[in-house]
Amino acid sequence: MKFKRTKIICTIGPATESYSSIKKLYSAGMNVARLNMSHSDHKNAKKIIERIKKLNKKVKNPVGILLDTQGPEIRTGDTSEVVNLEPGELVSFTIRDEVDVETTSIRVHYDELIQSVDVGTLISLDNGLLNFKVLNKSKNQLECQVLDGGKLGSKRHVNLPGIRINLPSVTEKDKKDIAFGLKENVDFIALSFVRDASDIDDLKKVLKTQSKKVKIISKIEDREGLSNIENICKVSDAVMVARGDLGIETDLSNLPNIQRKIMSNCAKYGVRSIVATHLLESMIENPTPTRAEVTDVANAIYEGADAVMLSGETTIGKYPVEAVNFISRIANKTERYRTLGYEEKLISNTDWQHLGIAAKNLAQSIDADGIIAITRSGQTAEIVSNAKPFMKPVYAFSNNKKTVSQLSLTGSVQAFLSPMYTDHEKNINSIMKILRKELSPTEDLKFVVISGILSESSADAIELRSLNL
Ligand code: PGA
Repeated sequence: MKFKRTKIICTIGPATESYSSIKKLYSAGMNVARLNMSHSDHKNAKKIIERIKKLNKKVKNPVGILLDTQGPEIRTGDTSEVVNLEPGELVSFTIRDEVDVETTSIRVHYDELIQSVDVGTLISLDNGLLNFKVLNKSKNQLECQVLDGGKLGSKRHVNLPGIRINLPSVTEKDKKDIAFGLKENVDFIALSFVRDASDIDDLKKVLKTQSKKVKIISKIEDREGLSNIENICKVSDAVMVARGDLGIETDLSNLPNIQRKIMSNCAKYGVRSIVATHLLESMIENPTPTRAEVTDVANAIYEGADAVMLSGETTIGKYPVEAVNFISRIANKTERYRTLGYEEKLISNTDWQHLGIAAKNLAQSIDADGIIAITRSGQTAEIVSNAKPFMKPVYAFSNNKKTVSQLSLTGSVQAFLSPMYTDHEKNINSIMKILRKELSPTEDLKFVVISGILSESSADAIELRSLNL
C-alpha cells in the first residue's frame, strides 16, 4: 500500500457523477467528494451522495462527503447557449427577473447590484476571466463595456471587487442546503465567503438545531476574511484558500503570499488546510498539466496542505481521473520534502496537543515505521496530524464510522474502521491484524501507539509496539 499524506478533494459534476466515474476517482486517489451547491439541486446531489455511499460500503478508506454552500455569492442567470463576448462591446447587466443572459443583457441575481456599484466600477465574471467596466447606471440596469471578453455560460460567479455584498453569511438557500446535507449525513459543510468568526457562529446556530456531527470548513475568499484569519481559524475545523475569488478580490500578484499567510495560520491553530482552484486547470482540456501547475501543486504540499481541491478539472474536464492520478503522483514525489517548519508555529494550548507532538518526536527519534492513533472522536489522530509528522505515516483506528469518514480530510492520517475493546491488548491485536494485511511487511515493524481510550478518564497515552512477522 502506498501511503498518501495529501488528501484530494474532487468536486463532482457532469463529467464524474456516474457511479463508475466516482469509483475511478477513488482508485486514482480521491479522499473527499465535494458537492457545490452553487450548481447542484437537492435531487442531483442526493443521487451523487447515494453513489458515494454505495462505494463506501465496498472500500476500506471511505470517501468523505463535503457540501459546499453558495454563501453570500452572486451569480448570473441561465443561458440557453454559451454567449461570446468581444472586448469593447457594450452589454447591460440587469436585475430584472424576466431577462436571462442574452448577448446584450446579463441577468444578475442580486437585487442591490445597481446601488452597490458606481460608474467606473469593475465587474468580474467567471473567476475573473471576463471583466467589465460600468459606464452608466439606470433604475434596473447597468450599461457596461467588455474589457476582457470570452465565453459566458450559465450561473457564472459575479465579483464586485472590494465591494461588500449585502447578503447574510448564511442565506436562506444555504439554510435549506445545510438541512438537506445534515439529513444526508454529510461529513463536512463549507461556508463560502466567511468574513469573520461571527459568520461561523451564525452557521453553528443553524447546525445546533440538528444534533449531527459535522465539520466546518471556512472558505477565505476576500480581504475581510483574510484580515480576520486568526479568529476564523479559532472557530473552524478547516480553512480553504479559495483562490478563485481571492485572486479577484485581492491583488492577484500577492496571492502566493496570501496562501502562505492562511496556511501558516492553519498550522498555528491546528486546523485542516485546503488549497483550492486552478491547480491543474489546463487538464480540463489536456491530458497532461503544465510545468507551472505541477509546481503549484508541489508548493501547496511543501507548505503542509492537508488537502488540495479540484473543481473544473473534475466537474467538466475531459481528463478528471488523469488529473487525480497526477496529483497522487506529485504527492508521491514531493511529500517527503515538506520542510517549511510550519510545525514549529503550532500553538500547543492543550496537554493533549503536547502528546501529539511527543508521539511525532518519539516516532522520529526511534525511526519507527509509523504512528498508530486509537481514537473515538478523531481528536487523537488530529493532534498527531497537527504536529506535522511528515516523515512518518499515521494509521488511525476508530470504531466510529463518522470519525473514519471525517479523517478523510486530515493530512498524514489514514483511518480504518476497527472494533474497539475495553481490553487494550485485544485492541492492539486486532489493529496489528489490520496493519499486517495492509502493509504486508517483510520484516518486523515498530510503531508508536497513541491512544485516546486507554483509561476510563479518556487520557491519551503513548507506548511502543512491534508488529512481528
Ligand atoms: P467556489 O470557491 O468554487 O465556490 O467559487 C472556490 C474559490 O473561490 O476558489
